[in-house]
Amino acid sequence: MSDNGINNKVDALIVGAGIAGATLAANLAKMGKNIVVVEKDLNERDVIIGELLQPGGVQKLQEMGFTSFVDNIDAQPVYGYDIIYEERDYLISYPNKNGEPCGYGFRNGAFLQNIRKYILAQPNIRVIEGTVTQLIEEEKAITGVTYNCRKMGIEENIYAHLTVVTDGPLSNFREKLSKPEKKVNGYFLGLLLKNCELPFANHGHLVMGDHPPMVIYPVTSNAWRVLIDFKGEKPPRLGKDFKKFLLEEFEDAIPLIARSAFYEAVEQGKFKTFPNHRLPASPIKKSGAVLLGDALNMRHPLTGGGMTAAFNDVLRLSDNLDKVADFGNSRQIGGAVKKFYETRHLGTQTTNILADGLYGVVYNPDLRKAFFEYVSRGDKYAEETCSILAGLNKDKKLLLNHFIAMARYGTQLKVSSEKSGVVVTESLTMVKDAVGIITPLLLSEKPDRGNKLMLEALNRII
Ligand SMILES: Cc1cc2nc3c(=O)[nH]c(=O)nc-3n(C[C@H](O)[C@H](O)[C@H](O)COP(=O)(O)OP(=O)(O)OC[C@H]3O[C@@H](n4cnc5c(N)ncnc54)[C@H](O)[C@@H]3O)c2cc1C
Repeated sequence: MSDNGINNKVDALIVGAGIAGATLAANLAKMGKNIVVVEKDLNERDVIIGELLQPGGVQKLQEMGFTSFVDNIDAQPVYGYDIIYEERDYLISYPNKNGEPCGYGFRNGAFLQNIRKYILAQPNIRVIEGTVTQLIEEEKAITGVTYNCRKMGIEENIYAHLTVVTDGPLSNFREKLSKPEKKVNGYFLGLLLKNCELPFANHGHLVMGDHPPMVIYPVTSNAWRVLIDFKGEKPPRLGKDFKKFLLEEFEDAIPLIARSAFYEAVEQGKFKTFPNHRLPASPIKKSGAVLLGDALNMRHPLTGGGMTAAFNDVLRLSDNLDKVADFGNSRQIGGAVKKFYETRHLGTQTTNILADGLYGVVYNPDLRKAFFEYVSRGDKYAEETCSILAGLNKDKKLLLNHFIAMARYGTQLKVSSEKSGVVVTESLTMVKDAVGIITPLLLSEKPDRGNKLMLEALNRII
């Protein structure tokens, strides 16, 4: 094994050139830092994750000066969502009154290769293709990593003032830097609809009904990604009857104009699955290291919020590190990391709460209907909800108000449609269910005074 020597420390060593790691490297390099990135596979990946970037994520790319990351990959602008509920639908648009950006749909691999191309071209970033096998810990501080590169037959230690662990959803190192309580909610099954239209071009489609939810959005000019949720801890079994099952279960839910493309995709059978996790952030402060991206925090991908959360974190962490005068000063670095952990929820909590909250709603028949009727009222009911979904509005109180108002509206509709004691009981259950969904989500975000007051208010409701 070769050893670069502890005295040859780079400013920052990043484990994983994924969405968060590669973007952080790009941003820190702009600040003049000396960086090493170790990535186990630099080839373009073919995945079903991270293919819709919400406007809030695009806004963060703009702030960092990286909007070119979506260039030349046939990325599709996305202007909002068509919410499809049983036989009806309602179009909600992202805010655009004050020059807010739109979202983008793209193939994740192509987008990531754009970011990697950028970092590979920076003179102060060294990108190594290799697998990190351990974090080096000396006197209770992380001082670097060991990586190996099978192709080159190399095993080497690299040392850094700050090691950023951003090795993604299946992280091997998160236990060292956090107390993870990771839960698999289910799996997304992904397939591609080719050369077809959907009810609204350049829009996401959320399809809800008496079937597991699915989302559909454009990823190139001639392909739409369909993600279908399979609840439970095990992936769907892609056995010989699976195609038949898919057709029976989902055919009617796919909008008519896209149905023949759906038949074709099912027939081709190029299915991919990926687990959907919930992982509240619970970092442990450790000198010399910081945890970032899906390694730190995950939410359900139904609302496509992961990359937006990651870019919020990248920008916040870089801004804190930019204020560190001397990267060799571990106390200053530690201060920047501490501040990041203590404040990051301000940029990510609404994205997290909405994602897992909406996931709870779509599986509850009454709340699902209430949600559709609520946003279909248009006006602020649609606009404000959509601004939170977009990742542009981070007002947690507003999110909570809409969540409870949605359940109450559902109650009113139910009571006014049928007047019986049973209905009143069911309606009360609806509000109770909504509170039951949102309370643990609020509790798992970083507690602040606002959270406490909200939880007290929720307790008064039920
Ligand atoms: C099914 C699904 C769909 C999703 N859809 C969306 C969406 O539409 N929009 C959205 O915003 N978010 C979406 N997400 C979430 C989004 O994909 C993630 O939040 C985002 O990719 C996280 O970025 P990351 O950098 O943490 O992880 P990744 O992008 O996965 O990067 C981790 C990197 O670390 C590397 N690595 C791992 N271990 C090692 C090691 N030991 N040594 C060296 N390198 C290593 C990996 O090769 C990889 O390149 C989805 C998630 C799922 C599960």
